[in-house]
Amino acid sequence: MQMYIKTRLTVFAFTLFASPMGFAQSNSGSNEILLQGGYVLSMDNDIGDLASGDVLIRDGQIIEVSASIEAPQAQIIDATGMVIMPGFVETHWHMWESSLRGMANDAAEYFYYSQVLAPHYTPEDFHAAVKYAALDAINAGITTVHNWAGVQTDFEIVQAEMRALVESGLRAKMGYLAVIREELTEEAELSRAINWINENGEQRLGLSLLLDGVQAEQMQTATELGRTLKLWPITDHSGGLGTPEVSGEEFIVTHGPGLTPEAIEIMVEKDIKVALSPLIDPMIGGGLPPVYALLAGGIPLENISFSVDVSAQTPVDPFASLRAMVNSARMQQVQANQVGVTAGTLIIPAPGTEWIFSYRDALLTGTYGGANVLGLADQTGSLTPGKRADVIMVNMNMINMLPLTDVDIPMQLVQHGLPANVDTVIIDGHIRKLNGELVDVDMQRVINEAAQSQAGIRSRAGE
Ligand SMILES: [Zn+2]
Repeated sequence: MQMYIKTRLTVFAFTLFASPMGFAQSNSGSNEILLQGGYVLSMDNDIGDLASGDVLIRDGQIIEVSASIEAPQAQIIDATGMVIMPGFVETHWHMWESSLRGMANDAAEYFYYSQVLAPHYTPEDFHAAVKYAALDAINAGITTVHNWAGVQTDFEIVQAEMRALVESGLRAKMGYLAVIREELTEEAELSRAINWINENGEQRLGLSLLLDGVQAEQMQTATELGRTLKLWPITDHSGGLGTPEVSGEEFIVTHGPGLTPEAIEIMVEKDIKVALSPLIDPMIGGGLPPVYALLAGGIPLENISFSVDVSAQTPVDPFASLRAMVNSARMQQVQANQVGVTAGTLIIPAPGTEWIFSYRDALLTGTYGGANVLGLADQTGSLTPGKRADVIMVNMNMINMLPLTDVDIPMQLVQHGLPANVDTVIIDGHIRKLNGELVDVDMQRVINEAAQSQAGIRSRAGE
């Protein structure tokens, strides 16, 4: 580790002298970053898209988004051939299981391994898993996650997971279980976590309350506790649909296949949000994300988001998640309306069909929607001056893309984008990925730790 730091410092010093326009100026006290000359996809209605634009960041905040910005003190990052856009926001992820990658082939195996292996995790294993997942997220352009924790037998585990989130640089919500060992979690326990966050969270971490396992008659009490402490989200996996009188705007329906029109009606009425699992649900044979039914049923776009859910089973890939949502919505739309013409055995839509869920809509759910679901829309989810600087640059000048700005950019991103196209990731003003490489991360070490952790857990469990 010591050797590694030394090497990085040498490289940095060399860059300092070799590139006076860049690092030397940022070293002189200015805390500004200027992303220059990219296609700006702001996801802010007032700003819209800029075919060539700049984004100025100062002290972790977005200061200005416009066609051309003068900032002589700023560290300049050339965005030629790149899309500059808000980082992706996912809303439901059991991060502690990430190091079990490759083990569970379907839902049955997933539940089996979760149950059998969980008791053999040490706090270090929880830390390694969450760190591994968090860096996977940053590498793919996700800047905010909701860690839907599953095992919290003592505070040491909670702390280990929160520490991993903060260390990674992500913006995150940390889920706290409302029932631990069949006992309702008390306010003092939650306050302890809140205090830890206030001291160590670097303004990027917040707490959510997970109601999974709360009995129907205790839902009111548990929810009120969360509301008193201003936690968000407050929810079980079904968005509180079992007790709709208690459910509300802080609740999230996860997954989605199988939702009835009646359930969707309640969700509209109660402003309940949605965390689809667009890669997991087809993989486990559960169904496609019901994007068409949600939209046709009146769920607002900004209440819909994607979630990673279980990265041990499917990739951490926001592009693939949004692609699955668009493609599912199209299939469902054609099927629901029987619009189209027959081409051989296929029914394909008639010319001029207007899709209910566009590529731009998909990107909105992947950024602003996720932020809204997590109660963070005032902080992140769009390139809006005044918001925190959670910004990514996607490289279009690669074999799977074309760097032209007069084409359908949202379509290119959703249908062709890969995590490998994510060139730069900035979270809360800190550069976490640059030139396609995570900054100050010994990736091999993180991978080794996750692999060793899995091996250790399995050997202790005899699996
Ligand atoms: Zn889940």
